Amino acid sequence: MKYALLDRGDRLSRELADQFHEMADARGLIRDDKSPRIVLSIGGDGTLLQAFHRYRDQVGKISFVGVHTGHLGFYADWKKNELNELVELMSATTPTTVSYPLLKVEISTDGGTSSYLALNEFTLKSVEGTLVAQLNINDEPFEMFRGDGIVVSTPSGSTGYNKSVNGAILHPHLEAMQIAEIASINNRVYRTLGSSFILPKHHHCDIVTDPDEPLAVGIDHLVLQFREVRSIVCSVAEEKVHFARYRPFPFWNRVRDAFIGFDENDKGPAKKRPR
Ligand code: NAP
Ligand code: MN
Repeated sequence: MKYALLDRGDRLSRELADQFHEMADARGLIRDDKSPRIVLSIGGDGTLLQAFHRYRDQVGKISFVGVHTGHLGFYADWKKNELNELVELMSATTPTTVSYPLLKVEISTDGGTSSYLALNEFTLKSVEGTLVAQLNINDEPFEMFRGDGIVVSTPSGSTGYNKSVNGAILHPHLEAMQIAEIASINNRVYRTLGSSFILPKHHHCDIVTDPDEPLAVGIDHLVLQFREVRSIVCSVAEEKVHFARYRPFPFWNRVRDAFIGFDENDKGPAKKRPR
């Protein structure tokens, strides 16, 4: 079984990476950075995003596994003291694979079209101030947006930036993309939908801006600057990202543990006693 490993670069993650390689070697796992079957990330969700983009051209053939060194993550479910168990399972068992939808973003400039895949989201902002953008859904005009920016997220990215701008959380079994606003201007002159909205697979959203407006584009943790953009097309990608699950990691438990917390001593709603 061939694997590759990417760590966050801090001391703890590096030490854990060294430990992992040693244990993996002893169990006959083969380190192969070029064409791995499993890619491990050690650090946080951000580290898994980096691993995803490093192997972007091979995502169809790879299953990702995330180890976290701090708090429990959305993509990183293994704790630092569980590496031994993980290596054992990797060498002796076949994991279940879960697949999550990705977002495809095609940006056309006078120079041509570039295509991107996002695991969390695509963000669009203006470099100079208010973003003005026309949104078309399936080639029909939808709204004229004015404000700080637009976030288009995948279901697994819905707990990231999207949640901070009041987007809904989507279970990653739903093949969809969510479009959310960042501080839209709404008054008697300017009007947008105001709430986030969710598009299914095979729909597409075109974002058209003034070609003279320099744009700041975010693809997950990456920030890119564009000029002379003619159009941006967002859709649910054909490709999916795969995760190797050696044990269950239910999405709603992750959401609860990250945002609500779980009090084991809470005995539920108190029953009112009849007087
Ligand atoms: P970062 O600034 O270190 O990350 C911001 C936080 O988002 C970190 O706590 C990160 O977890 C967490 N995160 C990443 N993906 C997530 C997901 N799918 N669900 C819930 N939380 C998630 O930058 P980064 O680590 O490179 O991560 C980039 C991501 O940060 C972006 O894709 C975006 O979703 C998010 N972000 C959020 C805001 C905001 O909420 N205002 C602004 C910018 C970016 P770890 O600590 O485990 O890495
Ligand atoms: Mn991070």
